[in-house]
Amino acid sequence: MVSRLTLTSIRKYYGDKLALEMDELALEAGRLYILTGPNGSGKSTLLNILALLVRPERGDIYFDGECVTWNRDTLNLLRRRVTLLHQSPYLFVGSVFSNVAFGLKVRGVTGERLKQGVLDSLDKVDLAGIEERDVKHLSGGEAQRVALSRALAFRPEILLLDEPLANVDSRSAEIIERLIASLSAEGTTVVMSTHNPLHNERLEGDEIRLLGGRLD
Ligand code: ADP
Ligand code: MG
Repeated sequence: MVSRLTLTSIRKYYGDKLALEMDELALEAGRLYILTGPNGSGKSTLLNILALLVRPERGDIYFDGECVTWNRDTLNLLRRRVTLLHQSPYLFVGSVFSNVAFGLKVRGVTGERLKQGVLDSLDKVDLAGIEERDVKHLSGGEAQRVALSRALAFRPEILLLDEPLANVDSRSAEIIERLIASLSAEGTTVVMSTHNPLHNERLEGDEIRLLGGRLD
């Protein structure tokens, strides 16, 4: 079986400091991966490379068996299929609705279908009914769930989440964990980073352990 995303002989430097060194990593379709490791071990660097947002100095990335060429057209196409939720996601000024609608509008969805798509995406993070609220009145956990809802509206084949549980209340954490498990069951490849070993036990994903920029 061809894996969804494969990294080979990856080296990523910041200046002359080696931040990530990975000879091979293969992510399969529909699996849930939990990326663990202490602060500074390279988790965010790896997620940014998987999201095709950061190009490593050495090595190749294969998407469905095809080597990624870093030209603009290819990247634009592939970046619609893989979505990264940043650790401190940025919400646009305005309503919850306009934030979640953004992903759908990019894909050309309008009118009733847009409205329904936003409501469905918000329902998945248990936030139905707050679409008119201004994002500046959201709690940290609610903001994280709105950002996740916006990411889901893109219907990514691969969803990458950078420490989504780090700064949220326990109810938001529970909702996010449940959603992550259901997404992988539906065929989405999910990679979630955490520096809390408890999350890994609860979610029962495949663990990818990093230490000092290497697989541990
Ligand atoms: P983690 O997400 O596990 O905390 P990171 O991927 O953020 O780890 O960082 C890995 C290493 O790379 C750390 O030593 C960090 O200091 C360094 N690093 C990360 N981003 C940058 C950057 N933009 N410039 C310089 N060094 C960086
Ligand atoms: Mg990080």
